[in-house]
Amino acid sequence: MKIIFASQNPNKIAEVRAKLPAYTLEGLDPIVFPDELVETGNTLEANALQKVRQVYEKTGENCFADDTGLEVEALDGTPGVYSARYAGEQKNSEDNMALLMQNLEGKENRRARFRTVVALIWAGTEYTFEGVCDGAIATVRSGAKGFGYDPIFKPEGEERTFADMSMDAKATMSHRGRAVEKLITFIESKNDQ
Ligand code: IMP
Repeated sequence: MKIIFASQNPNKIAEVRAKLPAYTLEGLDPIVFPDELVETGNTLEANALQKVRQVYEKTGENCFADDTGLEVEALDGTPGVYSARYAGEQKNSEDNMALLMQNLEGKENRRARFRTVVALIWAGTEYTFEGVCDGAIATVRSGAKGFGYDPIFKPEGEERTFADMSMDAKATMSHRGRAVEKLITFIESKNDQ
């Protein structure tokens, strides 16, 4: 069965595909979607819904989109929904990590969490699912796997950052992995009906 993941990020598509082996998971066709999807909401929920609606309008297929934010306690929950452009419109992960490390200098509380909202349009109806991963911002970066803020995020109970882990290990505990688990449970319940 086919489902479209409204993402142009090959890392994310690979992470989700590993959790959905029973489905043909397609990313966005660059011919149909040559530009980035519009994302102008002030919340993760609003952005995920905004993205999935654009894909449904053009394809009419079952589809889902995700939006993720890194919420740092000592920084009042920022960068949150603005995580991608924290250090500027160039949306550069190195710049974003450097700025976050700088803003946390001298702060004892390094607690943070990743939060993902997945918005699904299934048979024309909208649903949302949330996944959270609690953890902390590391004092030194570590690891070369993953993407985004992975080298500086340590999930709770782990000495490793996400960037030290295999994709499969990350998916068992990550925000997106948890949101996608809820999505899968939902889709499977629909298929049983
Ligand atoms: P978005 O969901 O693509 O909008 O992600 C927002 C920002 O969070 C971007 O800077 C991503 O690189 C980052 N991000 C999203 N998911 C992850 C993740 O699993 N690990 C690390 N960074 C992430």
